[in-house]
Amino acid sequence: MIRSISGTTALYGLFGHPASHSISPAMHNTAFQKLGIDAAYLAFDIREEQIEKAVSAIRTLPILGVNLTMPLKTAVIPFLDALSEASALSGSVNTIVNDNGFLTGHTTDGIGFTASVREAGFEIKGSVMSVLGAGGAAGSLIVQSAIEGAEKIFVFKRSNASFKDTVTFCQSISEKTGCPIKVLPMEDGALMQSTLDESGILVNATPVGMGDDKNTPVPREFLAPHLFVSDLIYHPEMTPLLSDAKDVGCRYSNGKYMLLHQGAASFRLWTGENMPVELVRKNCF
Ligand code: NAP
Repeated sequence: MIRSISGTTALYGLFGHPASHSISPAMHNTAFQKLGIDAAYLAFDIREEQIEKAVSAIRTLPILGVNLTMPLKTAVIPFLDALSEASALSGSVNTIVNDNGFLTGHTTDGIGFTASVREAGFEIKGSVMSVLGAGGAAGSLIVQSAIEGAEKIFVFKRSNASFKDTVTFCQSISEKTGCPIKVLPMEDGALMQSTLDESGILVNATPVGMGDDKNTPVPREFLAPHLFVSDLIYHPEMTPLLSDAKDVGCRYSNGKYMLLHQGAASFRLWTGENMPVELVRKNCF
């Protein structure tokens, strides 16, 4: 796939554990080759306890840009020189830019989400959102949606020990971005139904419906045709939630292309160039 490696070939990579299953190397190497950029992207298996040395290697080798997977997204932060606004707000880094030894952490996960729903015909700016779940993926998309001008965000979260932490996190994002964000108990069906009536988009950021799980996080009768339904799950491509959304007449999208657009945003930060997304979509997805 890589045309040739020379003495001037620049190095980019993925740090994660496991790392070998990732499609990121195929995506970025396809883009480098298409655009004639003398660079290669490799996957490195890095565990959390190795992150300090791995970041030191970025400066020493040097590696010009790095992507990170969980749990390195938070563990890497103390070893970087600066953070983007979205990274600082979400406490998560999935992209490092090495500018002559000065390492800045960015997060493109949320950008991947907003770009993928925009591509499917829904604009986050000015929208009222309902988000199910409050884990890493939800945090990134809530921050990016608030930055991009969502009118209001409702976050449905299970009433367990971490409910208060989610409230504190969302209050902080709300204060810093000016976007009202309210955390609500997922168990209150009546509240969920009335909130969905008010929302333009429903986002499933829980694993409910993933793989062989035939459950849906939202009763079908709560859905109405005005809703755009986004499920971050991409296996299966048609989750029980999306199947219900389709039957009800909602527009919908799955999580398949969130990764594509997240990678495209990393590529732009590193090279200043637009990833040839249609070619990458055709070759790698
Ligand atoms: P995570 O950090 O583990 O968070 C999962 C969230 O879902 C938590 O808030 C958890 O609730 C909630 N949850 C889990 N099981 C639930 C259940 N049975 N009922 C209600 N809520 C439940 O996971 P994540 O990394 O954010 O990933 C979430 C989903 O997004 C996964 O399906 C993942 O595959 C998908 N994802 C897709 C992409 C993409 O590129 N398309 C990227 C990242 C993630 P508690 O807080 O109460 O524990």
